[in-house]
Amino acid sequence: MDWMDYSPGMHYEGMLIRPPSEAQSILLQATVGCSHNKCTFCGSYKDKRFRIKGNDIILSDILFASRYMRDRKRVFMMDGDALIIPYPRLVWILERIKEDLPWVERVGIYANTKGIGMKSEEELVTLREMGLGIIYMGVETGDDPTLEAIRKGANSQRMLDMGKKVKKAGIKLSVTVLLGIAGKERSLIHANATGKLLSAIDPDYVGALTVMVLPGTPLAHDMSAGRFELPDNFGLLMELREMIASTELTGGLFFSNHASNYLAVKARLPEGKKQALDVIDTALQGKVGLRPEWMRAL
Ligand code: SF4
Repeated sequence: MDWMDYSPGMHYEGMLIRPPSEAQSILLQATVGCSHNKCTFCGSYKDKRFRIKGNDIILSDILFASRYMRDRKRVFMMDGDALIIPYPRLVWILERIKEDLPWVERVGIYANTKGIGMKSEEELVTLREMGLGIIYMGVETGDDPTLEAIRKGANSQRMLDMGKKVKKAGIKLSVTVLLGIAGKERSLIHANATGKLLSAIDPDYVGALTVMVLPGTPLAHDMSAGRFELPDNFGLLMELREMIASTELTGGLFFSNHASNYLAVKARLPEGKKQALDVIDTALQGKVGLRPEWMRAL
């Protein structure tokens, strides 16, 4: 078949979400939506019913990219938890990428604990050998009561086990954590527990985002009912400080440069920890400007 057998272009459906680091990648939407789709803060895929796209459409997009995206060295597979795709089909997709986009150096993918849990260690190793170079996993917090409250579908032990499994397979692991997600009262408990979980997982990258309460989500309902209160800017900075202070990585990069954050910090741990904490302390003293509200985005 040829991509021209289908309507020209990539067959994207709805809003596309990818990590900032995949901005220059070929975005391959192999699934639509998220198979979990229950997290209380997440509005990303509420309008999408989860499904895996047909092989013909996926192949059509790969063939289109092979003709028009020859300058892009990476592929990023979406939507929300594309690693949920059964192993034989993932193998097929990676084979096609290798064959039709031979210049691609790395394939990245979003995953949750369920998708990782469905793959054996040997299967993950094979996926890595076939080009899967990085998995992005949303951890959000290491605080179990908060993980339960936000309906993440996994506790901190499961996050640890699945994160370790990815790393053991030799696949790079990037995790996201969410400042503000535990609300005001548990803010520092969440920060401390998250730092400890990150230390135990020891991922290659940690991206800290700040919760933006999206209209229509269960979290927004909790907020309007008075059951959830976001820390103020000062509280969020304190949270970031505590999280970095309690995180011990063996060379991983911790960054809070996402557009949702009030303060951008980037530190290679352990050596960059002190400088990062100094920057936050300077901001806490009001000597560094924070990102204005109107410039924040998801
Ligand atoms: S697993 Fe990720 S994409 Fe799915 S609902 Fe939760 S946060 Fe959203």
